[in-house]
Amino acid sequence: MTRSGAEQVASGDGLGPDVARLLPRGVISGRVGGADVTSTGASISVRNPADGSELASIGAADGTVVGNAVTSATEAFEGAAWGGLPPSERGRLLAAVSAKIRASAAQLAELETLDTGKPLSQARNDVTAAARYFEFYAGIADKLNGETIPLAGDDFAFTVREPYGVVAHILPWNAPLSQLARGVAPALASGNTTVIKPSALAPLSTIAFARLASEAGLPDGVANVVLGSGSETGRLLAEHEGVRMISFTGSVEIGSGVLAIAAKRIVPCNLELGGKSAAVVFPDADLERAVAAGVYALSRNAGQSCLALTRFIVHRSVAEEYIEGLRRAIDGMSMGPGIEDPDIGPLISEEQLTKVLELVGAGLDLGATASIGGSRAADGRLAQGAFMQPTVLTRVDRAMPVAQTEIFGPVQCVIEFDTEAEAIELANNSPYGLSAAVFSRDFGTAHRVARRINAGQVQLNAAPIGGIETPFGGYRMSGIGREKGVEAVRHYTQLKTIIGRT
Ligand code: NAD
Repeated sequence: MTRSGAEQVASGDGLGPDVARLLPRGVISGRVGGADVTSTGASISVRNPADGSELASIGAADGTVVGNAVTSATEAFEGAAWGGLPPSERGRLLAAVSAKIRASAAQLAELETLDTGKPLSQARNDVTAAARYFEFYAGIADKLNGETIPLAGDDFAFTVREPYGVVAHILPWNAPLSQLARGVAPALASGNTTVIKPSALAPLSTIAFARLASEAGLPDGVANVVLGSGSETGRLLAEHEGVRMISFTGSVEIGSGVLAIAAKRIVPCNLELGGKSAAVVFPDADLERAVAAGVYALSRNAGQSCLALTRFIVHRSVAEEYIEGLRRAIDGMSMGPGIEDPDIGPLISEEQLTKVLELVGAGLDLGATASIGGSRAADGRLAQGAFMQPTVLTRVDRAMPVAQTEIFGPVQCVIEFDTEAEAIELANNSPYGLSAAVFSRDFGTAHRVARRINAGQVQLNAAPIGGIETPFGGYRMSGIGREKGVEAVRHYTQLKTIIGRT
């Protein structure tokens, strides 16, 4: 039997010798200018979703702490330590941060698992991704070229890409470290400085990151952290006049409010929001691959992934075979605390589980069938945590809330189709447009359908596929702007055109 997360954190053993030093020392409300900020106000409990035990307490950054963080970032941006650094030197420091993350990978993964509930091997993948982001953007720091523009006679023009200044990164709880790295690494590579606001549900790896970044030599003030609730600390950060760009990852509802703040202040705002991503499976598909994609979407982070393929639009002739394939795979899957590295861990909280169960229940009331799962998983010790059975709903009507709303849990809707036109129409029948997949051995079909689906990324004949290098972001309500790949640095820079006459 595994000891509770609190016991493990308190003793430090079982977590590796270095993990205790990555944890907050006492109750802090952030890290500003390379130092912890001791909290004086009320504290927020950070819990292990596998058993509800307390992992740590964090303070809430008030207006003073947020202001100090933005000032510290502004000074670093304007000073010699970051703003005055040659781009190649910035790249070297980001590479050092990457190496530091790799050197602490085991401890960071264990921390991420305890904090989010995700299975340990998935947390290890997230940590590797975080290190890769810093490595990738380290290499770009000195390659942000502008263009020359031909003009008449002796006139000349060229463009330069310049940083905005202080970027606020407001982040969700489902993959804290990799999402931090996805936004912070390109922002820093482009010459900006940052203030990072993690979710209060899973802030521990962000605090650890800031400490490791300091140890790696990142100058004070370049990557600050403020902790606390979204409605207070997050809002104060977005509203702060020193913040020159906002990078938000989270729900449509909160993102829309943050965009309104950005609109009022006229600052650019990247939005990486939710999804209800469709996979279209044609009769000539490699069904093993389609099933693997379906199983991955259900199990990875217990379905709490923005890009999870949650609507499988399957040709009527292969739908039963697809569902049988899912059933066989799911029957053999293990469930338990993430630290034991099962196939499926708990959801982030009881509140999230309640939301998922309510949406599934509403779907069943409207006539959907739970062909697989459908309930809370509460056998034995699973009752202590927020565990949900992988659930596959059939007889789903496209208009049901369960087919339209982002559920953010291990729930998949299977909807059958007869013609290609119907499949495209079903795939596009969503307010979202984050990710999608098409499974067909016919190149023409796969390519044609990919072009007609309204999504920022379409995967062909395999999912997940791609990585740090492949641009990612939403169409429609799934967001504005792109993260990942070279494309991201365009969004963290502004273009200046210089025109002259010799
Ligand atoms: P959320 O919108 O509730 O919170 C996101 C962040 O915003 C948190 O740090 C929160 O504290 C903060 N926040 C809350 N209210 C705020 C306010 N008034 N002002 C400023 N900040 C505020 O999202 P969540 O529940 O943490 O994460 C789940 C959501 O994130 C899902 O919808 C998921 O699809 C989405 N997500 C998207 C991507 C992507 O890349 N597109 C990646 C991961 C998660």
